[in-house]
Amino acid sequence: MAVRIVVLLAFLMVGTVAGWSLGGTTGGVVGAWAAALLWLAVELVLGARVLRWLRGADVLGDPPALTGLWGEMVDRVRRLLRARDQQVTEARQRMQYFLEAIQASPNGVTLLDEINRITWCNQTAASHFGFDAQRDQLQLVGNLVRDPDFTAYLAEGDFSREVVINGRSASAGRVARVSAQVHPHGEGQKLLLSRDVTALEQADTMRRDFVANVSHEIRTPLTVLNGFVETLQNLPLAEEERSRYLGLMSQQAQRMQALVNDLLTLSRLEGSPLPGGGDWVPLAGLMAQCEEEVRGLASALGKEITLRCEPAPAVEISGVSSEVLSAMSNLASNAVRYTPSGGAVDFGWRERGDGRLAFVVQDTGPGIAPEHLPRLTERFYRVDRSRSRETGGTGLGLAIVKHVVQRHGGELQIESRLGQGSNFSFWLPAGRFRPVAAASAEVPVLEAAETPQS
Ligand code: ADP
Repeated sequence: MAVRIVVLLAFLMVGTVAGWSLGGTTGGVVGAWAAALLWLAVELVLGARVLRWLRGADVLGDPPALTGLWGEMVDRVRRLLRARDQQVTEARQRMQYFLEAIQASPNGVTLLDEINRITWCNQTAASHFGFDAQRDQLQLVGNLVRDPDFTAYLAEGDFSREVVINGRSASAGRVARVSAQVHPHGEGQKLLLSRDVTALEQADTMRRDFVANVSHEIRTPLTVLNGFVETLQNLPLAEEERSRYLGLMSQQAQRMQALVNDLLTLSRLEGSPLPGGGDWVPLAGLMAQCEEEVRGLASALGKEITLRCEPAPAVEISGVSSEVLSAMSNLASNAVRYTPSGGAVDFGWRERGDGRLAFVVQDTGPGIAPEHLPRLTERFYRVDRSRSRETGGTGLGLAIVKHVVQRHGGELQIESRLGQGSNFSFWLPAGRFRPVAAASAEVPVLEAAETPQS
């Protein structure tokens, strides 16, 4: 500042001296005024340059080359602007980072203002409610989500609970359920969180159906058993009749036991880790056990069926041998149970040409109508309830087979035509087999096999 006063005084002095030398005292006064005006004009020009730079678009670009007071001012303004610009960029980056994180969330996030207009939503929320993240900004959420339960929820204002509504992707053949909950924040703003609960609801329904099915399956033989017990307690029966009743009671008890065994097998399959590839067992051994079980079943059922058991290929199989045997026995014993006397059942392992081997069971039984085929592996699904029960079926056999086969990396296939017999088979991947010759000196030991229950 002092420099500027000195410069101004110097200007005035030069002007005064020059004026005085030209026109005496009056000339000196005029000279001083002229010098002051000149100084002012220079300052105005410099100020105008600074102002033009500040007004321009490129404030952070090259500043006007100025020195002194104006130069320092320009420099300070530029540094302040730079710092502010840096802050804005950092704030934007942080914002972007948060938005990206919220976009990546598996839950839907919608921001609502005080009057429930959408100010922002992530992609998940958009798909839950059918919003268009860009187009629907500032639209009233109640206009876009027309579910009556949601409308009532918003109107009620009790946001301590969540509301479950049909998701946008729900249609006649597709269930989609979305749970939504509002969390108020700030001054009247709201955070609407949503999540897809379709799988949860389905699992819940399945669990309830399963419990109802199991209870029903157990209640039926229990009721019969109770009836016989009461009869035995209250009626003086002849020895022959007594032993007939006891035989029938034993049948019901066996039925319950078969059911419990199958349930335990299923829960073990669901809870145990996937079978590795360590234990090698010759297929021939499994086939021999399967054949023995199936022949035993046929004679227990008093059926005259032609059973053809194909010789097993000279290979070993890796996996849980008791599970594989249970899958084989389930398919083969189903064929025996459902094929009437006079029919034929062929079963055995066949090579598929690409290293995979398939266990195939063909029967000349009643066959299955096409509408039942996709549901056969559901728990407790039966085409003919009474026939399944008559032959000691639990309705869980094919569910067990499907589980076992999937756990071993294979697939269950069912082909059947009503009145033309059935073909049940499952293949396992090539990696689960090796020729017997390649086996090491280890002695193959069969794991204790489970008796098929259906
Ligand atoms: P179940 O214990 O009732 O046999 P499964 O799960 O083993 O239960 O089979 C489901 C249903 O599939 C059976 O109830 C039966 O209706 C049908 N089914 C299975 N195998 C055959 C077959 N070989 N021939 C005809 N129907 C079959």
